[in-house]
Amino acid sequence: MNKPVIAVAWPTHDYIDALERAGAQVRELTPQGDPLPAALEGCEGVLLTGGVDVDPREYGDADRHPTVEVDPARDDYELALARLAMERDLPLFAICRGVQVLNVAAGGTLIQDLPSAHPSALAHSITEPKNQIAHDVHIAAHSRLAALLAHRAGPGDALPVNSRHHQSVKETAPGFVVAATAADGVIEAIEQPGASFCLGVQWHPENFSKTGEFAELFQGLVDAAVQRREPSGPR
Ligand code: MN
Repeated sequence: MNKPVIAVAWPTHDYIDALERAGAQVRELTPQGDPLPAALEGCEGVLLTGGVDVDPREYGDADRHPTVEVDPARDDYELALARLAMERDLPLFAICRGVQVLNVAAGGTLIQDLPSAHPSALAHSITEPKNQIAHDVHIAAHSRLAALLAHRAGPGDALPVNSRHHQSVKETAPGFVVAATAADGVIEAIEQPGASFCLGVQWHPENFSKTGEFAELFQGLVDAAVQRREPSGPR
């Protein structure tokens, strides 16, 4: 069987490593070389990666917090990529900035700066080493995320994660549900029930590619891409 082709823009080595270990053939997209929608031809899944902040104007905030760094060209490209993937029900996994892009693309909003919005919140920005455990998350029962990570944490159990973000999902986009939260209430994962695979996490599972703690999340994306190839019912 051919390996499923997973499209990814702005990847670092860890994202590519995690995808390849899950059996993906990685196709790196660049806005200059791979205009949308044509670039999605032949792609069977999408990974949205970490990076700078989404421009608050994309979710209706006229004011920008001084800590917010934006890249309008990247916003344009990735918001389009996320919307195309959702329209086509392409399996989509989104990480850190990626979950923020996904939520905004689907009509949700973001908290621009957690330390100023929730001064008593947990430390969500522990930058080094990249796999440093920062806090626990609690996974929502009956979520796809819970099913994927069932061997590591049951409903209500705490799951330790790394954390390198100063923003988070505020209002979940229509059609999405919260799949994980931190003890301070910060949303750490969202998903779209009914989609072939549409999940975003606020932590960085790719930084555990060598030790495998979150390999099931990348495997879930790749498995969904394979499953989508098969006819959906008897003909
Ligand atoms: Mn966090």
